[in-house]
Amino acid sequence: MAYTLVDDIPKIIEALRSGFRSGKTRPIAYRKEQLKQLGYVLQENTAAFLEALKSDLGRPHFESEVHEIIPTLSAVKDTYNNVAKWARTESAPFNPVSFSMHPKVIKDPKGTVLVIVPFNLPVMLSFIPLMGAIAAGNTVLVKPSELAPATSQLLAELIAKYLDPDVVRVVQGGVEETSKILELQWDHIVYTGGPRVARIISAAAAKHLTPLTLELGGKSPVIIDPKSDLRLAARRIWWAKLVNAGQICVAPDYVLVPREIRDQFIKEVHRVHAEFFPNGAETSNSYSRIVTKGHADRLAQLIQKTEGVVVIGGEVDVEQKYIAPTIILDPSPEEPLMKEEIFGPILPVISVQDVDEAIEFVNARDHPLALYVFSQDSGFRTKVAKNTQSGAFVCNELLFHVAAYGLPLGGTGPSGYGQVRGKFGFDTFTHFRASIDQAGWVDTLLLWRRYAPYNQYNQK
Ligand code: NAD
Repeated sequence: MAYTLVDDIPKIIEALRSGFRSGKTRPIAYRKEQLKQLGYVLQENTAAFLEALKSDLGRPHFESEVHEIIPTLSAVKDTYNNVAKWARTESAPFNPVSFSMHPKVIKDPKGTVLVIVPFNLPVMLSFIPLMGAIAAGNTVLVKPSELAPATSQLLAELIAKYLDPDVVRVVQGGVEETSKILELQWDHIVYTGGPRVARIISAAAAKHLTPLTLELGGKSPVIIDPKSDLRLAARRIWWAKLVNAGQICVAPDYVLVPREIRDQFIKEVHRVHAEFFPNGAETSNSYSRIVTKGHADRLAQLIQKTEGVVVIGGEVDVEQKYIAPTIILDPSPEEPLMKEEIFGPILPVISVQDVDEAIEFVNARDHPLALYVFSQDSGFRTKVAKNTQSGAFVCNELLFHVAAYGLPLGGTGPSGYGQVRGKFGFDTFTHFRASIDQAGWVDTLLLWRRYAPYNQYNQK
């Protein structure tokens, strides 16, 4: 990966600003052309992306195709098909007092937008905000993660090859390069990543009063109803926990299970674990690695220092960035495992008395990005939904809400704010510009009264 020279960064941003000022991003036909090119980046280079993701994350091709390439390509197509509709000027509803002003909402681009991307889904999380920003008529700088260097390099090369350099650029680098980028003024920033860096980004945005979208993470819980289909729950939860070795923002972080069915649930997970990895996970071609040795070491420490009981897995090989799929039973709520987002293949299972205790447990913590419930009972599901807050509320499934057409993805409170998907993304990158065009004749009716002198009203 070739880091961008820090001294070049202001020039790159000036080129994007001047690209915006040129007005070339205004016509919808031009935006569609760039969106089409974005689609070709993926379509014509899928094999290269699969290899880059394999090299960065040890991720099986199938997972990359299903979780990054296919949904991203379909999002580009959807944006291409809808941009004209989304960008249409909207008339305000009829009102007898204001109709003469022809009130309208014009969908203006915000200007030059910055997109900062994490390592875990480096293609999708670059493309989704990028396509929304292009569709809305902005110029865009993308800063991929230095922790996914092969993907970052490929993105930089292909974006330079397929897209207009006046409109989209990639800066490669880490803290130094991002710090330089953040010194400069932006018209909108989208940051996807962890809460520590989010605070740095927020402070930098505040300095210029730049609008900001934060796509963060957190500890997404699963609540299980004792009367639910345990086999289905175990299978789906274990699958969702192990995609990308748990390095997914909406991965289930921990499970709250009624004491009476806890052992039965663990038995079901054992069963699916053996099905998923008949010869163990370490040699399986269906299991990813942790992004760096440092990240693997952090996860190894969480396992080694736990006060809970390891009932599945527990093996680590930090040199190989391997962390076994692991279940830890009833860790202390005070240990790091239960305080920080795990972002790895470790699943704490916590026994609770009933749904009230589960709700209390969730509410005692930050609002999560996703809250999962397994229950066939609508009363149970409604009770959890109505008594909790989370970015998304998902029943009897996991992860798929991210791909469901027409839904936003975003957090609430410490799991982030704002959305960048589909029409929600288009709106994020759009300034809704109020506009009127008043008719002259209204002054002959009522509005002449606005003018001085106000003598007749001042008499009293
Ligand atoms: P991270 O915060 O370490 O890095 C993200 C980006 O910030 C990278 O591009 C990195 O170069 C940059 N960065 C790092 N340190 C910086 C600094 N000091 N100053 C300026 N920029 C800096 O995040 P990560 O570890 O790559 O990603 C994992 C996190 O992202 C998890 O918390 C996960 O939940 C979250 N996430 C959220 C979503 C979502 O859609 N809500 C999606 C994926 C990941």
